[in-house]
Amino acid sequence: MKTIIEPFRIKAVEPIRLPTAEHREAALRRAGFNLFRIEAKHVLIDLLTDSGTGAMSAQQWAAIMRADESYAGSTSFLRLRETVEEIMGFRQMLPTHQGRASERILFDLIGGAGKIVPNNAHFDTTRANIEHSGARAIDLAIPEAADPTSRHPFKGNLDLDRLESLLAAESARIPVVMCTVTSNTSGGQPVSLENLRATRQLCRRYGVPLFLDACRFAENAWFIREREAGQQERSARAIVREMFDLADGATISAKKDGIVNIGGLLLLRDAELFRRASDLTILTEGYVTYGGLAGRDLEAMALGFHEVLDEDYLRYRIRSTTYVGEKLLEAGIQIVEPPGGHAIYIDACRFCRRLSREQLPGQALVVALYRHAGIRTCEVGTVMFGARRPPPLDLVRLAVPRRVYTQSHMDYVVEALIELFGERDRIRGLRIVEAPETLPHFSASFEEL
Ligand SMILES: *Cc1c(COP(=O)(O)O)cnc(C)c1O
Repeated sequence: MKTIIEPFRIKAVEPIRLPTAEHREAALRRAGFNLFRIEAKHVLIDLLTDSGTGAMSAQQWAAIMRADESYAGSTSFLRLRETVEEIMGFRQMLPTHQGRASERILFDLIGGAGKIVPNNAHFDTTRANIEHSGARAIDLAIPEAADPTSRHPFKGNLDLDRLESLLAAESARIPVVMCTVTSNTSGGQPVSLENLRATRQLCRRYGVPLFLDACRFAENAWFIREREAGQQERSARAIVREMFDLADGATISAKKDGIVNIGGLLLLRDAELFRRASDLTILTEGYVTYGGLAGRDLEAMALGFHEVLDEDYLRYRIRSTTYVGEKLLEAGIQIVEPPGGHAIYIDACRFCRRLSREQLPGQALVVALYRHAGIRTCEVGTVMFGARRPPPLDLVRLAVPRRVYTQSHMDYVVEALIELFGERDRIRGLRIVEAPETLPHFSASFEEL
C-alpha cells in the first residue's frame, strides 16, 4: 500500500469551530495583530507551535494515574532515568519544567561575559539565555541553509570550516559547541551523522565539549535513516543512540519529541558540572528528582520518549509534514525546501511580494491566514529575531502538533493558503507599535499600514 495512514485511532475528541469573520477581525484587533495574544478558543486550526501541543496516548494517560508523587526518589523519576539511560545513554540527568529551564541552568554555569557559543542555528530561547548570561551566540549553519530553494538533504549541518576557524582563534572563550537537532530556526532541517561526527572530532581537537539541543532527536534520526548513505538498515533507536553518544551533554524540551504537554531535561556527562547544575536546579526548579514537574509528568515523558521512536509513528510523522509541503510547492508557494520534520516554513517575502522587509511580510501573512481561515501560525523572521539582526529570510512556520490533526485538517490548511495566494497582493503590511527587548514576538503589538 502506498497510503501512509495515521498509526492510531481517536478515542477522545475535542470540538473545534471556525469563528465568524467578524469575530476573527475583533480578536485580531484586541490582540494587537499578535497571534500569541489571541485566545485559543478563537482559533480553528492551531499551528502556532508543535511544542507541548501533542496528543498523549492512552498508555500515557494510564501512566499518569500510576505515577508516584513522592517528593524525593519517586518511582516515576527512576523510570524516567532508566528510559533516558536506555535511549540516550546518559546516567546523569535533571528533569526541568521545559527546555529553556535547562538552557538557563546550563548557561548560568558555563556562559557569562566574554564567552562565545556557536550553534548551527540557535533557537530563540537558547540565544536569549546565552545572551542573558552575557555571552555571545553565533550561528554557523552551512550556506545552503539560507537558500530556501536548496534541496540539500541536511540543511541543519554545521559549517565545519567556519567552526574550525572560530575554534582555532577563540577556543579559550568557547565553553561549549551546540548543535540543534533538528534545526528549528532553519526550517526543521536535520543534521547528518557525518556532520555530527566531524563536529565531535573538531571539538575534541580543541578541547571544547559538544552539546545537543535535542528537542527533535527522533525526527532528526528518521531523516538520517531516510537520507544518509548507509543508514537505511539501522533502527531509529540505534541512530538516536549514536547521536547522543557523540555529545557531552544535551538540553531537551520534552514538549516536542517527548510528546508531553510540559517537561524538559538537562543531560550532562561531567560529574562536577552535574553537581553544580543539581544545586541550581534545587534553587529554582525543585528537588533533583522532579525538577519542577509532577511525578505524573515524569511518567508521561518516559513513555513519550519510547513512543516517539516507534517507526510507524516516525514514518507517518515525517510523511504527513512532507505532504503539506509538497502540496504548497505544487501550487507555486515557495517553502523552505525540502519540507522540514515538525513544520513547513513559507517564504513570506516571496508570498507577500508587494511588501518590503520593513513591512514585516512574515507577520502580515500570519495575520492574513488567520483572518482568511482561522488558522494560527507563527512568524520566524524579523519580528522573532529583531530588526537589529534580521535573519536571512522572513518565514511563516506551520508547526504540526504531534498526533493531533488528520489529513483533512491539513487539506483545509493547504486550500486556505492556496486561496490566499491568489489574493496575495491585497495582504497589508504591518508596523510594530510596541515590543519588549527580549523575545519580542511573544508580546509585541502591531498596527496595519
Ligand atoms: C522549543 C525549543 C527550545 C525551548 O524549549 P521550551 O520547552 O519551549 O522551553 C529550545 N530549542 C529548540 C530547538 C526548541 O525547538
